[in-house]
Amino acid sequence: MSSFDIAIIGGGISGVGIAQFAAAAGFRTLLIEKGDIGGQTSANSSKLIHGGLRYLETGQINLVRKSLQERRHLLDLAPSLVKPIPFYIPVYSGSQRSAFAIRAGLSLYAVLSEFDCLGRFSSVPAVHWHRLNGLKLQGLKAVFQYWDAQTDDKLLTQAVARSAQALGADVYAEAELLSLEHQSDGCKLTFSHAGKEQEVEAKLVVNAAGPWVNDVIAKVTPPLAGVELDWVQGAHLLLDIPAPEGILYLESCFDKRVIFVMPWYGQTLIGTTETVLEHLDSQQAVTESEIQYLLGIYRHYFPLSPDVEQLKAKIVKTFCGVRVLPKQSSSAFERPRDTLMQTSVSHPRLLSLYGGKLTTFRSTSSEVLQWIEQHLGKRQAIADVNSLSLS
Ligand SMILES: Cc1cc2nc3c(=O)[nH]c(=O)nc-3n(C[C@H](O)[C@H](O)[C@H](O)COP(=O)(O)OP(=O)(O)OC[C@H]3O[C@@H](n4cnc5c(N)ncnc54)[C@H](O)[C@@H]3O)c2cc1C
Repeated sequence: MSSFDIAIIGGGISGVGIAQFAAAAGFRTLLIEKGDIGGQTSANSSKLIHGGLRYLETGQINLVRKSLQERRHLLDLAPSLVKPIPFYIPVYSGSQRSAFAIRAGLSLYAVLSEFDCLGRFSSVPAVHWHRLNGLKLQGLKAVFQYWDAQTDDKLLTQAVARSAQALGADVYAEAELLSLEHQSDGCKLTFSHAGKEQEVEAKLVVNAAGPWVNDVIAKVTPPLAGVELDWVQGAHLLLDIPAPEGILYLESCFDKRVIFVMPWYGQTLIGTTETVLEHLDSQQAVTESEIQYLLGIYRHYFPLSPDVEQLKAKIVKTFCGVRVLPKQSSSAFERPRDTLMQTSVSHPRLLSLYGGKLTTFRSTSSEVLQWIEQHLGKRQAIADVNSLSLS
């Protein structure tokens, strides 16, 4: 039976990031992914490498600061995959977020970015508002422009997986965990791969199964309980409409949430929704009410565009991802977006990850590496992840 220091369940951005960090630090690493690498949540995000301006509203200052640092690192390490992009925030007479509040938020955002190359913003003069792709001008009071970054999330995830493999990690796609036996001196994992069942041993296991984190916990013996969570679906629509020049940061006309209208490979991408799910299918589908919601907002802000029914004919693709949020009574929009790492006294060799952001995968990986080193001690590192470029 093969034996590893670390086995990672899940080949989304979290799992591959941890595999890269662990392999670089000299640990013998295995990653198993039941489908394609980066085929689930990490292919269906809003594709932003960002601090998350709107998280300032809910006081998540540390998350924003950390995300802005990570944005800086990713712009350096993966310039072909992570690219700066301008954001535009229009403020109307009826907007919930006033020009004063936006200016204050952007000032804090610039401070938290440590005034790096993207840490600046400006007010767009009224004479240039007509350039914003047919944006509604009636009632428009101000437009702010700031910077964040955009990525192809699936390609980024695959690039990190390749880097992990180049550092010696064993990475298997189409490999599903079937059972995990937690013992005092290590774990025994059984997984299916290439039509066969395989068994391996690992000293430590990281459960990075995204929305399926508690399904993986249900495969563990002796049994343990997972953290109570909600699954919140976020839908996106890709429209056959020429791409806007930057990203429009819009306040939903229905519920004041933030919606993005973004360029995506020459077309227009709109997202996202927050639909709490009762149960999780292996492939979630965008619902009719999500389509109506997103197109309704688009039509509200782009009044010269066709009506919602005609816009529907312009949909070339829909996709959705599922967020894992701690169970709370507050709306999904207000809940914390940081990664929660859970281990237990009864199962000290298993660490489970809940939630998180694409942007912060490197800082999550670094924290998981600290957990690994606390258990196994330090090894002879074979590379410095802070200087490994991704492409
Ligand atoms: C709609 C939406 C928009 C978002 N937008 C952004 C954004 O713009 N910027 C940002 O920073 N973050 C964003 N996020 C958050 C970000 O996308 C996620 O935090 C991140 O992709 C989660 O990655 P993950 O690896 O934890 O999960 P996943 O990518 O879902 O990976 C988990 C993997 O585990 C695998 N798996 C499950 N069970 C098993 C098993 N038994 N055996 C083997 N493998 C298994 C799955 O197949 C899956 O590939 C968004 C999230 C959503 C839902």
